[in-house]
Amino acid sequence: MKITINAGHSEVDPGAIGSRGTFEATVCRQISQLFEQELLKRGHQVQFLQLDDLEVVCQQANAYEPELFISLHANAHGNRQAQGTECYYYEESNDGELLAVCLQQALVATLQLRNRGVKTANFYVLTFTQAPAVLVELAFISNPYEENLLCTKQQSFVQALLTGLEDYLKIKQL
Ligand SMILES: [Zn+2]
Repeated sequence: MKITINAGHSEVDPGAIGSRGTFEATVCRQISQLFEQELLKRGHQVQFLQLDDLEVVCQQANAYEPELFISLHANAHGNRQAQGTECYYYEESNDGELLAVCLQQALVATLQLRNRGVKTANFYVLTFTQAPAVLVELAFISNPYEENLLCTKQQSFVQALLTGLEDYLKIKQL
């Protein structure tokens, strides 16, 4: 299967910054690249994108014609106690919703994260990509405990993403 992985933010815009100074863009790139390696081992074709310009992200993804588009981010809130995982999909996409549900369940179960639910949003990369698309807020980089998880449990995040993807493929009989 052809999959586009979009790591959130870029070197120009590091995204949210954790209390220990971790950049969202850095952990998203690290987890995305580990995820890419595991997908390649399993015979998938992967396009990796981490770019400042979301219009270019969508253009390049659409040109690649993936069957799924997965954007990985870390969440942030002024309240350092805010915690958990949430997955977003574009509201008209049934496949996007199913993938979001599968990824959400696997992340919550694998990392024992608070389940903040699966939600719709008209985020740019969800609206302007043609493939079923999800945007995953893996955990809160503004929460010191979860910032640590994002740095030290990257293989567990990848394992959860692989489990969620496998569940999706099973349900779709792909
Ligand atoms: Zn982000």
